[in-house]
Amino acid sequence: ASAVLSSLDLPTSGEPVAGVYHAHTKGWHGSGDLQESKSPATGEVLARVRTASQDEVDAALTSARRAYESWRTVPAPKRGEVLRQVRTALNERIDDLGKLVSLEMGKGRGEVQEFVDEMDLAVGLSRSIGGTLVPSERSHHQMMEVANPLGVVGVITAFNFPNAVFGWNFSLSFITGNATVWKPAPTTPLTAIATTKIVQSVLEANKLDAGLAALVCGGGETGEALVNDKRVDLLSFTGSEARGREVGMKVAGRFGQSLLELGGNNAATVLPDANMQLALRATTFAALGTSGQRCTSTRRLFLHSSIAPHFLSSLTSAYKKITAERIGHPLDSKTLVGPLHTADAVKRFESAVETAKSQGGEILAGGNVVKMDGELSGGNWVEPTIVLVKDVERCQIMQQETFAPILYVTTFETLEEAIALNNSVAQGLSSSLFTQNLASAMQFIGATGSDTGIININGSTSGAEIGAPFGGNKSTGWGRESGGDAWKAYCRWSSCTLNFSNELGLAQGVSFD
Ligand code: NAD
Repeated sequence: ASAVLSSLDLPTSGEPVAGVYHAHTKGWHGSGDLQESKSPATGEVLARVRTASQDEVDAALTSARRAYESWRTVPAPKRGEVLRQVRTALNERIDDLGKLVSLEMGKGRGEVQEFVDEMDLAVGLSRSIGGTLVPSERSHHQMMEVANPLGVVGVITAFNFPNAVFGWNFSLSFITGNATVWKPAPTTPLTAIATTKIVQSVLEANKLDAGLAALVCGGGETGEALVNDKRVDLLSFTGSEARGREVGMKVAGRFGQSLLELGGNNAATVLPDANMQLALRATTFAALGTSGQRCTSTRRLFLHSSIAPHFLSSLTSAYKKITAERIGHPLDSKTLVGPLHTADAVKRFESAVETAKSQGGEILAGGNVVKMDGELSGGNWVEPTIVLVKDVERCQIMQQETFAPILYVTTFETLEEAIALNNSVAQGLSSSLFTQNLASAMQFIGATGSDTGIININGSTSGAEIGAPFGGNKSTGWGRESGGDAWKAYCRWSSCTLNFSNELGLAQGVSFD
């Protein structure tokens, strides 16, 4: 661990690491409580981090506001050029940063690659974003939609996306002319500090205001300070539905804007005409990869009754083999299933398994906590679990997102029935359909189909690319980040009308003579 920390310019002496970057002094501080960053695989304390006091959050917001006021006048392609340099700097450190993500969260390098990809997209956008020209009904008039920088963007992130979600937000916020203040999850501060150091080195080389990329490590109270502050024009929140509901209401209460990326309860449906090998691999990957701790993990599986026995027997064998051979340290290349993030997450796994059993679920694979040997004995290990559910109404735990590798499986007879099951939960993030039939695929993505923000045909529910917008519907929060038109949320929009005559032109044929 210390080799990884020192490669990223993080102290290894055991002294607490400062988790707040002060733009006015260009120095690292933190006079709030201490946080521990622990390896979920071994239980080792990687470092203790000094968090932000309320005064330090206030100072970060003041600095961000000031930074925005000059940054907004810089032409967008010039902002893009600075982001291109951040992209180069981050890409040079991708292996080290990827290892830190593995140590601190349990995920891998792909997380950082996603940030790099997002910067590629945003650099391109910096030369093309803008509103449309709209024809006017009045002669010698022109209407146009104008996008200006919005202000300060607060970014609160979840533990399971310690780098990429900040990357999506920062990249788009930066090229659209805003300053960003980041509050990472309390258990992944080191990834945030290392990332901010890289961003700050580029800002410094370009003599830009450090307030453009502020970092305030802390817990819920630090997050709340951003949520409640009018200086935060857009609050981008990624986390649980319970927290997101409160955050959304508070930001709306002060007429701020929010982007909510909340929980998922994603389902995969397998039709009898599917390529079964593909469906099996995709479902296994999405259900137990990252130990079920992706917002897009497959949590529910609907099998057509005609293929269910054979599919379930192959799935159960795959689970048993992976459990026996491929659970391990995230930095070990053989590993397919890493640890849960905290000891509390293990308790939630156990409690969900017990509830599922009491509600009629039958455990086909897994269901237990795993005891590992040696240095892994201090980690948070559970078996990837399959629960067969015959009575969906009775098994209410299926309606909730448990952030663990638990897959609930049930059968159906018609595609309509499967779609109804898919849509029967509060969340609406990601879904998959496995079929070779074009009509079924079109039904699934159409008006009477799946209601999720992300839909995959013959692909896994997890593992989205950055080109299309990422986000979910219903209680997942309706937010859209990353690709597509997501950049528009980071702008202050005005519909502008230009009169280039000497006559007063009135719309709707109104005369004022
Ligand atoms: P969480 O809700 O516990 O915490 C998320 C963030 O909110 C953390 O930074 C936390 O410190 C902060 N926070 C806590 N209380 C707050 C408050 N009162 N005001 C403001 N901020 C506060 O979530 P988590 O356990 O870190 O992450 C897992 C959850 O995130 C899952 O539900 C998962 O589905 C969801 N998630 C969603 C997406 C998505 O894109 N839809 C992506 C990743 C994770």
